[in-house]
Amino acid sequence: MASLFESFWQYLITNFSDFQLATIATFIVHESVFFLSGLPSIVFERLGLFSKYKIQKKINSPGSHERCILRLILYHTCVNLPVMIVSYPTFKYMGLKTSLPLPPWSVVLPQILFYFILEDFVFYWGHRVLHTKWLYKHVHCIHHEYATPFGLTSEYAHPAEILFLGFATILGPALTGPHLFTLWLWMILRVLETVEAHSGYHFPWSPSNFLPLYGGADFHDYHHRLLYTKSGNYASTFVYMDWLFGTDQGYRRLKALEKERKESEQN
Ligand SMILES: [Zn+2]
Ligand SMILES: [Zn+2]
Repeated sequence: MASLFESFWQYLITNFSDFQLATIATFIVHESVFFLSGLPSIVFERLGLFSKYKIQKKINSPGSHERCILRLILYHTCVNLPVMIVSYPTFKYMGLKTSLPLPPWSVVLPQILFYFILEDFVFYWGHRVLHTKWLYKHVHCIHHEYATPFGLTSEYAHPAEILFLGFATILGPALTGPHLFTLWLWMILRVLETVEAHSGYHFPWSPSNFLPLYGGADFHDYHHRLLYTKSGNYASTFVYMDWLFGTDQGYRRLKALEKERKESEQN
């Protein structure tokens, strides 16, 4: 299996330049993973599937789904792609590699864990700043247009916020100068994580039921449905930043109340 993938990688580096792989191919990988992982929650909403697991009762209209998709295509093409092209020299300078052999898992996994922790930390503080009056009104309110999020709303944001999100995402890789394979794997996991957090569905098989410290859909959905000054739950991936800085108190209170109600119903 590993050798089959290495043959595929050999094909890529033989036929495409480092520049093409780090920009156009990265863009294609991102778009494919983002739209494929984001579409199911739209289908579930439209067909009324899994409604038992839907966090909020409200259903987004087909028009609001379409508006989100069209704006995403516009921003991804006019903001994300140019940013990837412009930042390529920085990545090259920081030591981005594409050559074989692929890095071992003993290198890849600690790097990705480091990227998740660093991104979560930077995102938490940046997101809190985005919730101050002026920045919320002029920038972050776009992302909060959807108080009932669905997967694709994860990247629905003002261009200035897209730049900030991009910065938080690429800071770790830029610091460590990784292999392109690691960069792609990190990007794929980060996209799947944020799409799941915005999916609007909390399933019995949702990762937050199994992964300690992981936020997930229920945690981030709470952030979207509250008024911007009261939101809390600012972190992107984990729950500990909000716990450490006391910005999850409203959410914890709600969870405690829900637990109490469930227990009294059972007795
Ligand atoms: Zn927010
Ligand atoms: Zn969000």
